[in-house]
Amino acid sequence: MTYKKIRQLTTVGQSWNIKVRVIRIWESINFATDELMSLDMILMDEHGDTIRATIWKNLIDSYKPKIIEGSIYALSNFKVQEDARYHPVKNLFKVVFVYNTNVQALDADLFASRDTLLERKNIDKQCSDVIGLLTKIKKLESRIIMKNTANPRKRDIREIELLISKDDTVRITLWGHLAHSLNEDVVGKHTVVIVTSTMVEGLQGTLSLKSTNGTRLYIDLDIPETWKLIDSVPYEETVPKLMEVDKSTKGTIQEQMFYNRRTLQDITQMRHDNPTDQDFVFTSKATIERLENSSWWYMSCNGCNKMCTKVDGKYHCRKCNACPEATTPRYWIRLQISDHTATTTCSIFDDEAQKMLKMTITDLLDSLNGKSEEIPKVIQQLCGKTLIFRFMLKEQNLTEGKGYYLVKKTFEPDEKLELQYSNHQAENDHNIEDTHDKKYQIYLMKKN
Ligand SMILES: [Zn+2]
Repeated sequence: MTYKKIRQLTTVGQSWNIKVRVIRIWESINFATDELMSLDMILMDEHGDTIRATIWKNLIDSYKPKIIEGSIYALSNFKVQEDARYHPVKNLFKVVFVYNTNVQALDADLFASRDTLLERKNIDKQCSDVIGLLTKIKKLESRIIMKNTANPRKRDIREIELLISKDDTVRITLWGHLAHSLNEDVVGKHTVVIVTSTMVEGLQGTLSLKSTNGTRLYIDLDIPETWKLIDSVPYEETVPKLMEVDKSTKGTIQEQMFYNRRTLQDITQMRHDNPTDQDFVFTSKATIERLENSSWWYMSCNGCNKMCTKVDGKYHCRKCNACPEATTPRYWIRLQISDHTATTTCSIFDDEAQKMLKMTITDLLDSLNGKSEEIPKVIQQLCGKTLIFRFMLKEQNLTEGKGYYLVKKTFEPDEKLELQYSNHQAENDHNIEDTHDKKYQIYLMKKN
């Protein structure tokens, strides 16, 4: 069955089919006579469009028992009229039930689960609606779009994180006016958010979605899913927190290379009792001493992205508690690195490892003719290299002092800039630590 979108309905033509959720239902009373006039509803389709619907008095008895607020129905054989009276929704039309209007309750879930979203990864035009508890919100940012064209434009964005089920969160980037539909006032307040018509944007550990032109955003809509969600998760974990904007990826390459520059000693001595999503991103210039572990890759489950273990010659995913249909090999290289102050360890995964080695893992594995246990030459050759590492420190690093810092990015050092940096630092030795980064940033800006 193909359904029309609410926005496609017109007063011309009669044979419409729509799939909608009844998001509100109420009785309209004539206040002068106290007489029941009609049963009215607001319907929403999966594209987030809404329309009012009316069941006139004489038909209420036959339809009222069939319609429950919050449920999803396929409707056909109804009239579409101009909504002259008033507009509780932004729609010039309304749906009017007639004697033979067909109402079929659907079991369909309007909101996508993690599995559905995974299936829709990178499929163009396949939009998904999600409902979740707002767990994180970032400040408003702006991005330049159409960078390499004659007229690049600035657009506002805001990133949020929703808990869509007990264990699954998604990140959503809201673009344009949608970026303004939520603000930091929600921090600390339990908030259920529905975002419609989003597109899945690839997967880098977390599932991330972006808004489209058709996206609508609803807050605390009184539908059963909202209450189901609230009941299913612990309260404290779902109070929205402010997520810091990752400033380390902003600016020129030069600025990024010197972002929060620290020595390895500074980093290894850093402790924090309660790391949140604050900015624990640092850069360091260090030399790769050796490979810390003989394993350099792992097999991941395509269902959940988690690591699989080999059980009786087959890959088994503990999280899914099954042997996944498909698996993907991924890099996981652990290195010992040092600078003039300290020695520590770090982990480099997928994309970053591929960039460093200039080789996809599949190509590399293919080239080994099955000898995947040995460390390939191309990885061994990393030893002795000096690079700028951008680390993102995690909870175990900060509270327990554990190593294996996650490497988010590496840069080839620019010797001239490094020299300028160390000269500049020597000149400013008397300054307290925190200000030298800022000064250097300004210094770099003036230079450029
Ligand atoms: Zn799995």
